[in-house]
Amino acid sequence: LFVHDPITAGCEIELAPEQSHYLEHVMRLKPGTPVKVFNGRDGEWLGTISELRKKKGRITAGTQLREQGTEAGPTLVFAPIKKQRLDFLIEKAVELGVGKLQPVITQHGITDKVRRDRLQAQVIEAAEQCERLTVPEIAEPVRLLDWVANGAEDHHLLFCDETGSGSPIGEVLSQLLAKGAGSVIDNINVVNHALVIGPEGGFSADELERIRKQPFATPVSLGPRILRAETAAIAALTVFQDRIGD
Ligand code: SAH
Repeated sequence: LFVHDPITAGCEIELAPEQSHYLEHVMRLKPGTPVKVFNGRDGEWLGTISELRKKKGRITAGTQLREQGTEAGPTLVFAPIKKQRLDFLIEKAVELGVGKLQPVITQHGITDKVRRDRLQAQVIEAAEQCERLTVPEIAEPVRLLDWVANGAEDHHLLFCDETGSGSPIGEVLSQLLAKGAGSVIDNINVVNHALVIGPEGGFSADELERIRKQPFATPVSLGPRILRAETAAIAALTVFQDRIGD
């Protein structure tokens, strides 16, 4: 169960009314029931429901079950796609250990609007379901070319290029990881990796040209077929997870 409050041994955690309602009437839980709680910062704790009635819920934190750890998955840079497909992409990315979620506005993208609050709620739900302790943030949307121009925030970019110009992502990733994630590539101190996935209409020629010119960007292939953006996100993140094992 995700909570916003800090968690320490013995502390009382107030639940939001809708969360209390869900626990009482959907999950049919009773006071005294043990629940696992996390807040994305303090690890996972075993708590006990100390009150649950009329949309008022409280949990008493007991012992810590898991340390927070430094699970730092890759950043997923993605163009907003149609609502259902975007919801699916976000949920699968959370399950597959994504780090930051960076929506970008691209020339062929369908929209520059991102309902961050709605997507953030999806992220929390997915994190609860897959029992991960970090809760990726949905960043403010930025223009792809601006994000890349600003040094892509010290990331090495693996940009998923369906035109076949890239090497298989597994090979590229193994080489990069062999250099160490903290490697300095062309004077950028690479602290993380970003998987860049285009919209349904793909990257524009201008975007491709500008990204290819960046020394900290490598085109990667996800195979010979044209994948949907959400499939590409799953494929790329799975290869990543397989290699960094988080
Ligand atoms: N341009 C294509 C569709 C793009 S698919 C068309 O018009 O049909 C959406 C995104 O998924 C692409 O921009 C790319 O980032 C990624 N993608 C899809 N298939 C891929 C592949 N085989 N290799 C690498 N990336 C791929």
